[in-house]
Amino acid sequence: MIKRMKGTYDITDDIGYYQTIEKHIQKISKLFGYQEIRTPHFESRDLFHRSVGADSDIISKETYDFKDRGNRMNTLRPEGTAGVVRALIENKLYAQPTVPQKLYYYGSMFRYERPQKGRFREFRQFGAEAFGSAHPSLDAEVIAYAFTVLRALKIKDVNVHLNTLGDGQSQTAYKDALKAHFKPHITTLCQDCQTRYETNPLRILDCKVDQGHAAMKTAPKTTEHLTSEAQKHFEDVQAYLDAMNIPYTVDHNLVRGLDYYTHTVFEVKVSEQLLGAQNAICGGGRYNDLVASLDGPVTPAVGFAFGVERLVVALKANNTPVEAPYLHAYFIILGAKPRLKAMALLQRLRLGGLMCDMDYMEKAIKGQFKQTEHKQARFVMVLGDEEVDNETIEVKDQKLNDRFSVSFNDLYITLVDKLTTSTTDCHDCDHKGEK
Ligand code: AMP
Repeated sequence: MIKRMKGTYDITDDIGYYQTIEKHIQKISKLFGYQEIRTPHFESRDLFHRSVGADSDIISKETYDFKDRGNRMNTLRPEGTAGVVRALIENKLYAQPTVPQKLYYYGSMFRYERPQKGRFREFRQFGAEAFGSAHPSLDAEVIAYAFTVLRALKIKDVNVHLNTLGDGQSQTAYKDALKAHFKPHITTLCQDCQTRYETNPLRILDCKVDQGHAAMKTAPKTTEHLTSEAQKHFEDVQAYLDAMNIPYTVDHNLVRGLDYYTHTVFEVKVSEQLLGAQNAICGGGRYNDLVASLDGPVTPAVGFAFGVERLVVALKANNTPVEAPYLHAYFIILGAKPRLKAMALLQRLRLGGLMCDMDYMEKAIKGQFKQTEHKQARFVMVLGDEEVDNETIEVKDQKLNDRFSVSFNDLYITLVDKLTTSTTDCHDCDHKGEK
């Protein structure tokens, strides 16, 4: 038997959680004025080397790289920002009249990581990117957007961890200070950190292996090396968050693993009770230099990415109700002539927006009734020769425990009438009266 690849999984029973998340993402994205963008699942390997950074963990250890039959080097996308930036430049989206350009994406990402709880090799991210404004109010909007998604999903105990890396000048000064600080400890740091010391000392602070090292606690803070402009930007972001009532904690050790961040970086964490140690559900920040470094025009930008699998775990731990399978109507079929009629009636009801189904297994009547329970049908109808001859059918309303007879001609309007006037659970159908 062929099995799924390590680190991947099939979404079966949990599909309702994914659909609930996707529905809220679409809704909240519209509220904030973000348009969906869909980019390819694979891109040229160079794109990720030049954006995420060749010596980052993601690129040096985790990408799925493959040569295609035309000898091109491809990489399955490990994150969403690089592809969106490439699309912005290639399609000249930055020149569109609506500014800033606000985009969001949803889809699979691929990283060759050691699979463990909350970490997969194919996982989904929902992310947003806003291009064209360096204003701190846009940083705050992006954070508010991420926060509002969690609120819509009714996930509580959300904490925004906020830091700044400052502009280029601040970062150069900070990196020098970090190097001076870690120099006496260099031989006691892990092998990766010894490399990071040379390539990007900021990443030492992000190291999972050296997290407990004594020198980590005494490391200099980004905020001690900010230019006055960078300091002002950080203060303004906080003022806008305060104005929006978004709770946050300034966390000086937050640096984030990717190369391209400038100024604001943030992570949204939910309580460890919900997610355990992997409780960072969303990460993001400002990246003012990335578009230009990929040969686009100078375009400041800010964005975030959510891990969708972690959202699912949080929803489950939170007992958030999701939509269960449901049908408006189900036909029980007794014979060939009724089957023909049922097909015609089903099509009419479905065109009118009713979710309905019938037996296709030629089961005995008892077995067909069992199906109406499994499928959670509101109206159940038995269709035999007599009903076909009389063009009338008896409908059982499972919800109100009621029965009524109706002609085939009036069936659709009668069912819609019942659905829109009764007060039952709200289901996602066109008949919005059903509450
Ligand atoms: P990153 O792109 O590394 O900043 O990750 C953004 C978010 O994606 C994280 O906060 C996680 O929620 C999620 N994430 C990252 N890597 C994985 C993975 N291997 N499996 C599942 N979710 C992940």
